[in-house]
Amino acid sequence: MAYSSDIIVIGSGIGGLTAAALLQERGFSTLTFEKNSYPGGSCAAFKHKGYTFDAGASVFYGFGEDKSSGTLNMHTRIFRKLGIDVPVISDPVQIHFHMPDGFDIPAYYEKEKFLGTLMERFPNEKEGIVAFYKELGSVHDILSSLPPGSLEDPIHILNVGSRHLGKILSLALKTFQSMGKSARKYIKDEELLKFIDMEAYSWAVQDAVSTPLVNAGICLADRHHGGINYPVGGAGVIPAALCDGIKKFGGAVEFGCDVEEILLRNGRAIGVRLSNGDVHTAKAVISNATVWDTFNRLVKDARYNVSETKFLRAPSWFQLYLGVDAGVIPEGFHMHHILVDDWARYNEPGGTIYFSAPSVLDPTVAPEGKHVVHAFVTDEVDHWKTYQRGEEKYKQAKERYGASVIRRTEKILPGLSDAVEVKIFATPFTHERYLNRYKGSYGPLLYPGQNVLLKPQNRTVVKDLYAVGDSTFPGQGVIAVTYSGVSCASYIARKLGNPLSYL
Ligand SMILES: Cc1cc2nc3c(=O)[nH]c(=O)nc-3n(C[C@H](O)[C@H](O)[C@H](O)COP(=O)(O)OP(=O)(O)OC[C@H]3O[C@@H](n4cnc5c(N)ncnc54)[C@H](O)[C@@H]3O)c2cc1C
Repeated sequence: MAYSSDIIVIGSGIGGLTAAALLQERGFSTLTFEKNSYPGGSCAAFKHKGYTFDAGASVFYGFGEDKSSGTLNMHTRIFRKLGIDVPVISDPVQIHFHMPDGFDIPAYYEKEKFLGTLMERFPNEKEGIVAFYKELGSVHDILSSLPPGSLEDPIHILNVGSRHLGKILSLALKTFQSMGKSARKYIKDEELLKFIDMEAYSWAVQDAVSTPLVNAGICLADRHHGGINYPVGGAGVIPAALCDGIKKFGGAVEFGCDVEEILLRNGRAIGVRLSNGDVHTAKAVISNATVWDTFNRLVKDARYNVSETKFLRAPSWFQLYLGVDAGVIPEGFHMHHILVDDWARYNEPGGTIYFSAPSVLDPTVAPEGKHVVHAFVTDEVDHWKTYQRGEEKYKQAKERYGASVIRRTEKILPGLSDAVEVKIFATPFTHERYLNRYKGSYGPLLYPGQNVLLKPQNRTVVKDLYAVGDSTFPGQGVIAVTYSGVSCASYIARKLGNPLSYL
C-alpha cells in the first residue's frame, strides 16, 4: 500500500507535536493535521490589539538544566535534539497562593525559603512539613534518574529495570500512594492540609487525597530543581518551536485541516478523512484529541465508544484575557497567583481564581505601559447552555460573570476593574469549539484511589491507532503531555524498526 506518510498525527497539541517531532527527527515521515490556523491547543497563544495572550498554560516545567538523564527537563533535551533554541526566563515563584484568613505564601524556587515561610505560619508542624516535602523530593529523585520511554515497551522496561531495579520497585510502590494520604502521615493542622489540597488543585484540579503522590512529586519537587521558566514571547513559542523542528527534518504540519474520521480496515487504523473529503493514509495514526473525542466522534464504529463515566471528567473553564494599565500592577508582583476566598467553595465551579500576568516577567507580550493578564476559574458547559453563540444575552452574561471575577481579584490587585482596557471572555463552549474537547473539559481524571498506572497509555484498542495528550499517562499539564509524546514516539519508532535513542 502506498502511504501518504509513515505517521499521521491528529492535532497539534504539545503531545501530538512532541511525538511528531521526535519521529520525524528519527527519519520517519509525519503529517500533522490541525483544525485551527495555529499550533499548540491549550498551550497556544493569540495576539489581539498588541497583546500576546496565552490561551491556557503559562506555568512551565521542563526547561531546567539537565544534569540527569531522567524524565524531567524534557523540553531542554528535546529542543537540543531538534537543534532549536527556545530562550526562557526563569520565574522565582511557581505560584503565589492567597488563601482565607490572611494565609499568603509564594511557592519560591528556593526550597528552603518556601519551607521557611510555611514553617513561620505553622511552627508546630515544622517536622511534618520537612518530612512531607522530603517524600515528594524522593519521588523526584527517582524520576530524574530514569530515562523517559514507553511503559508498554518491554525492551525499555527491561533496560531500565536491569539498571535501576531498586528505584523501579520503590516507584512502583509509590504509585499506590496518594499525595493527601501521605501528607496526613506527617501533618495534622487542618489549615496546612487545606493548603496541600490547593497545591494539588492548582494543576490537578483535584484535592490532594485524589492526586497520585507520583504526579505531585514531579510537579512540586521539580519547581525547586528545574524550576519554572517562561518562554520569551509567550506560551505559543513552545508549539511553534516544535513545528519548526518537524519542518526542519522534512515533516509537515497542515493548519485549517479538521479530521472528521479515523479510517479503519479490519480493526486497524489506516488513515484519516478530513472535513473537505480528502483521505490520507499512514502506517500509524496518533490522535491528540481527548479519549472521548477520539472514540465517540472520530472512530465511527460504535463498538469502540467510551462512556463519559469511564473516567472522572474534569471541569472546563471560564477565562478572562485582559489588557490592563500597567499602573495597577505593583513593582515585585509575581507572575502567577491563586486566590481562594472561601475554603468551603475552593473546588466548586468558580471557587478558585487562577491569575497570571506574564508581562511582569516578559515585557514583550504587552504594549508599553500595559500588562497582559490571564485569569480563569473552573466552569461547566451547563452553566451556559441556555445561550446561543453571538446573541446579546450571551454577551451580557459573559460580561456580568467576567466583571464578578475581576471584582474578586481586586483582593490582590486593588483597582483592577478600572484598569482594564481590553477584555475577551471565553466560556466552556469557546474552549470546546477551539480545542475540539468534549464539553470543553480539562480532560479525564482518575477516580480517587485509582492507581496512576491505570491512566490509558499510548496504545489503544484499535491496532495502529495511538493516543497522546492529557487523556493518556501521566495526565494533564504541558510537561506531562510532553512525556506522553515521548513515550508514544518511542513505542512507534521501535515497532516500525528504528528505535529512538534516549533523550
Ligand atoms: C486554562 C488552562 C490553563 C492551563 N495552565 C497550565 C499551566 O500553567 N501549566 C501546564 O503545564 N499546563 C497547563 N494547562 C494544561 C495544559 O495546557 C494541557 O494539559 C496540555 O496543553 C494539553 O495538551 P494536549 O497535547 O493534550 O493537547 P490539546 O492542548 O488539547 O491540543 C489538541 C489539539 O488538537 C486539535 N484537534 C483536536 N481534534 C482535532 C481534529 N479532529 N482535527 C484536527 N485537529 C484537532 C485541537 O484543535 C488542538 O489544537 C492549562 C490548561 C488550561 C485549559
